[in-house]
Amino acid sequence: MLERLAPDLHSIGPNPRNLLGIEDLQRPEIEHLLERGRFYKAVRRTEKLTTLRGRSIVNLFFEPSTRTRTSFEIAAKRLGADTISISALGTSLAKGESLVDTLNTLAAMNPDIIVMRHAASGAPHFLSRYLSTAMINAGDGLHEHPTQALLDALTILEVKGSLVGLRVAIIGDIAHSRVARSNLHLLSKFGADIVVCGPATTVSRNLTRLGPGIRLTHQMREAVRDADVIMMLRVQLERQNVEVFPKGEYFRYYGLSLEHVGLAKPDAIVLHPGPINRGREISSEVADSQRSMILSQVENGVAIRMAVLEWVCEE
Ligand code: ASP
Repeated sequence: MLERLAPDLHSIGPNPRNLLGIEDLQRPEIEHLLERGRFYKAVRRTEKLTTLRGRSIVNLFFEPSTRTRTSFEIAAKRLGADTISISALGTSLAKGESLVDTLNTLAAMNPDIIVMRHAASGAPHFLSRYLSTAMINAGDGLHEHPTQALLDALTILEVKGSLVGLRVAIIGDIAHSRVARSNLHLLSKFGADIVVCGPATTVSRNLTRLGPGIRLTHQMREAVRDADVIMMLRVQLERQNVEVFPKGEYFRYYGLSLEHVGLAKPDAIVLHPGPINRGREISSEVADSQRSMILSQVENGVAIRMAVLEWVCEE
C-alpha cells in the first residue's frame, strides 16, 4: 500500500542517521545509548543544556500516546531544542491528505528530526528512505518501539547490573506488541534467557527466530518461576480485528498477581510499558508494590530519549 506511493516522495539529501528499530542496531550502539541515558539521568533537571540548541524537532503522532510523546518533548526541551508536537487529528490528514504529502510538507520546513508514531508497521522505515530529515520511530504498528526497549534495558540494568544470563519473562498479548518485539531483539543481543508467554493465538514459533535465548510457553506459572524480571504487556485491543482470546477470562490465565510474583526470584522486578489496565493484565497489588518499576521506566524514558535525540544529531 505504502510502496505504491513511493514515486510521489522527494528523495532529497544525504542519508541522515535514524532510529527505526533495535533489530538494526549493533551492541556497541545500544551500549552507547544506554551509557548516554545514564549520563543524562544524572544531569540535574534544572541544568539548561545546549546540546541541541538551534535544532528543531517535530513529534508526529498518529496514535494515542501519553508517556512517549511527553517524554520526547521534555527530552528535546532539556537539550535546548525547539519542539512542536502534532497529532493526526489536528493535521491535514483529517482533510484527506496522504501520509506522504504530510511528511513531505513537514520535511520542507527543514526540521532536524521527525519523531513518528504510526499504526502501520514499517511506516517510518518506508518514509525514511526518501526523506533527508532524521527519523525516530516512536512505535510502528505491531513492529517495533525501540526507545521503549532501551528504557526498559536501562531500568533493568540499574537494578540488576547486567543482562547476561538474566531470566526475563515477557507475558501478554505478544503478537500485537511492538514492545515485546523490540525487547526480544535487545535482550537476546545481550545474552538474556528469555521466556515468552501468552495465549496460544498470540505466541508464534517464529518469535524464537528473532534471536538466541528465546523460549515459548503458554503457562504463566512456568514463565514466572525463578524469573529475575517479569515484563507485562497490555492487551492491544485496538490491534485485534477479531477476538483472539476471551477478554473476560484473560486475567485468570495471564494476569499478574502477587502469588505469581512469589514464584519468581526473591528480588525479581516487574516492568510494564504502560498504559496499565489494572485487573486485566496486572493486579493493583503488584502494580503498586515495591517490585514494580513502572514509574522508574517512565523516568528513564526521558533520559533515554535525550540520548537518542543527541545520537541522531551526531555528525
Ligand atoms: N505504550 C506502548 C506502545 O505504544 C505499550 C502499549 O500501548 O501497550 O506500544
